Amino acid sequence: MSADAARRLDDVHKRIAKAEAEAGRPAGSVTLVAVSKTFDVGAITPVIAAGQRVFGENRIQEAKAKWPALRAATPDVELHLIGPMQSNKVKDAVALFDVIHTVDRDKIAKLIAAEINAQGRTPRLLVEVNTGAEPQKAGILPQDADDFIARCRDVHGLAIDGLMCIPPFEDVAAPHFALLQKTADRLSLPVLSMGMSADFETAIQFGATHVRVGTAIFGVRQHKVEP
Ligand SMILES: *Cc1c(COP(=O)(O)O)cnc(C)c1O
Repeated sequence: MSADAARRLDDVHKRIAKAEAEAGRPAGSVTLVAVSKTFDVGAITPVIAAGQRVFGENRIQEAKAKWPALRAATPDVELHLIGPMQSNKVKDAVALFDVIHTVDRDKIAKLIAAEINAQGRTPRLLVEVNTGAEPQKAGILPQDADDFIARCRDVHGLAIDGLMCIPPFEDVAAPHFALLQKTADRLSLPVLSMGMSADFETAIQFGATHVRVGTAIFGVRQHKVEP
């Protein structure tokens, strides 16, 4: 089991390195976020032991149950929130996560700003863009992204480092990655969180700085928790 995790992690690193080279990007320019949602401490520990330090979770409750103990053992772990934000969980999110990928509406931005002030903790923030304009999906619509990011900065005093997207499951991902890249370029945002197990190499071609990979490292999830 633990040998499997180490082998799969190594394989993902090799694929990232190859995609960086093919895209003419510097080695090491892409950060691997290992998505450990639904996996327990026993499954995560071998991946930490294999050297991985950046992890993503999509549920605040679940992360709160798993990560304090893991982090006590490995303080240099960096934790990323990649799932939707609810207003009653903002306090926990600001307390627990180092990077939040899913800022997507004014109410949440306002609450995050209040918690940053209250806690004196400043997670890095990305805005989620609903590139497919899917009604059931979180994220700001592409045409509203510029205004929203300006409001985050000017009204709420939040520094936004970049953008994140989850393309529609049934679509070819490349046009969504291209749209996110174009939007980030226009707004001079350096961080692009895009690409999952099935398409991270494509995302790297389009400038992803962070790829979020679960299945290719941890194996297939027992309980389907879709973004
Ligand atoms: C689960 C999840 C991932 C990882 O998906 P895999 O296909 O298992 O690599 C990436 N991003 C988000 C937002 C997720 O919820």
